[in-house]
Amino acid sequence: MARRKLVAGNWKMHGSLGSLSELDGVAAAARQAPGIDVAVAVPFTLIAPAALRVPGLAIGAEDVHEAERGAHTGCVSAAMVKEAGATFTLAGHSERRADQHETSHDAWAKAAAAHRAGLRVILCCGETEAEHNAGRAERVVQSQIEKSVPDDADGDWFTLAYEPRWAIGTGRTPTLEQIGAMHAIARAKLATMIGDRAQAVRILYGGSVTGDNAGAILAVEHVDGALVGGASLTAAKFVPIIAAAADA
Ligand code: PEP
Repeated sequence: MARRKLVAGNWKMHGSLGSLSELDGVAAAARQAPGIDVAVAVPFTLIAPAALRVPGLAIGAEDVHEAERGAHTGCVSAAMVKEAGATFTLAGHSERRADQHETSHDAWAKAAAAHRAGLRVILCCGETEAEHNAGRAERVVQSQIEKSVPDDADGDWFTLAYEPRWAIGTGRTPTLEQIGAMHAIARAKLATMIGDRAQAVRILYGGSVTGDNAGAILAVEHVDGALVGGASLTAAKFVPIIAAAADA
């Protein structure tokens, strides 16, 4: 099945009002690439100004709380980020799993809450370096998918991102064969859970994607796009990845 490529940026805890000008170039590149989707997840404080500045670009949150409202000091709900202008959110990013001790169940609850609020979701999974070296990557990713993908996931609102943790921000990437194998495993696992709908779910690769390696990675079977951290912070680095996806 043909799936539209998606290139999504993740600014993490970077950026300021001043850096929103980078999105002008990203939005221009997205307009030049009507055959693919482009999105950028930004810190909560930048969602509203980013959405106002580049209305044609999908702006998202990097996380949401699983509850609709309540006594959760410092947290932000899916409805709140939607009201600010977000159309999607990340869930279960490995930095939240590591730093905030979030589990796959938490990622499931956040994804489900975001969907209920009308947001699209990019749900992240991926093994640690120790798990990779121990030959446990496959089982870890299958287990994360099993515990975190909502039963009603489908390609309209749900995207999976395979991000080996040891490749995030390190400049190291798996081989193309390893990426292809893990994406095939991830899609097969999804199929055991949601049946034929798995064919329409996009599976992104994430981990040290750059303008130099994007073309080769995006040509791998079952790779339907990229989730990009460091190289999404400037238009100069992000636009070549968008262009590579448009050509893939
Ligand atoms: C990420 O944060 O999801 C990511 C893939 O980061 P980087 O591209 O910097 O490795």
